[in-house]
Amino acid sequence: MKVGILGGGQLARMLALAGYPLGLEFIVLDPSADAGATRLGEHLHGRYDDQVLLAQLAEKTDVVTYEFENVPAEVAHFLSAHTQVYPAANALAVAQDRLAEKNFFHQLEIPTAPFAPVADFEELRQAVKETGYPSILKSRRMGYDGKGQVVLNADDELRAAWESVQGVPSIVEGFVPFQREVSMIAARRPNGEVAFYPLSENRHSGGILRVSACRRDDAVQGQAEEYVSRLLEALHYVGVIALELFGVDGRLLANEFAPRVHNSGHWTIEGAETSQFENHLRAILDLPLGSTEARGYAGMVNFIGGVASSNEVLAVDHAHLHLYDKTPRKGRKMAHATVRSDDAQTFSDSLHTLIAMAKAVDDS
Ligand code: AMP
Repeated sequence: MKVGILGGGQLARMLALAGYPLGLEFIVLDPSADAGATRLGEHLHGRYDDQVLLAQLAEKTDVVTYEFENVPAEVAHFLSAHTQVYPAANALAVAQDRLAEKNFFHQLEIPTAPFAPVADFEELRQAVKETGYPSILKSRRMGYDGKGQVVLNADDELRAAWESVQGVPSIVEGFVPFQREVSMIAARRPNGEVAFYPLSENRHSGGILRVSACRRDDAVQGQAEEYVSRLLEALHYVGVIALELFGVDGRLLANEFAPRVHNSGHWTIEGAETSQFENHLRAILDLPLGSTEARGYAGMVNFIGGVASSNEVLAVDHAHLHLYDKTPRKGRKMAHATVRSDDAQTFSDSLHTLIAMAKAVDDS
């Protein structure tokens, strides 16, 4: 079987690595000549909206998936006419527009921060009256890793904030005084079979994910599963999904979802019975899903901007290194390390050693 992937970065790379034992082959479409996944399969080199390349991709593969959600909806539609595309275009359309996404949560009675749409400066002034201060202004589209976002603290900051998002259609959200951020990764097959991973607890800084740790038996696991189930059902979803949530006073508020494998699920590579990458492939190929059970204590640390030496990382007890084969650039995700152990103290010590290593090379 051949799997096509739109995007050839680290997520595509890890999908390919998980797919080889299943006898799968991969073709990635990516505009960059040296994208990290291109050494693991055939590379169609060009733009995502190049219809000649898209037609080739559709013709050569059994199923097409993607590693990022900003694939133009028309591209997903074009591909859908020629081959199986999972997750389907409807999930993309919702996930790539923060307003559609928040409205969708609302419709499914999944709680969120208060929010209001903003199309012009006057609407911004009105919106903050509803959401109060502090609030966050976020562009509706093309936002990731905290890009296209600005915190609003007072009326006299609104003009500059509006200019900083360049006046594009946006939303304003009330700032959530969360105690923690968590995410739930789940996989769904075409027949409706669903597998949920234990929650990940995530630490961000500068809008970028730094650390995720698996939370076995978390008190809000059931609540998160309920919310994800509603999304999966409503979208007739196929593949892996990641729902990001804020934990505030024992409640969960949904922030956003990603219709793809997710950075906060990288600990599953060594830390779960079946990784999110393998389960995504199983789901989109309509194969039985693998157990999502955690194998002891598990977590992951991102290396941003630079990576500690392999020698250093691999000397950490129970650590595994995953390099993305990318040229270092400021703020760029270069690699991650996972750690898993049956012993809580060993796990915690190793995770903290890795966090310190990542900080020492972090340039963001
Ligand atoms: P996003 O791009 O929406 O995932 O936002 C990136 C990060 O900004 C989140 O992981 C949070 O740490 C923070 N953030 C986003 N929205 C809010 C909010 N409404 N209240 C508090 N923090 C937020």
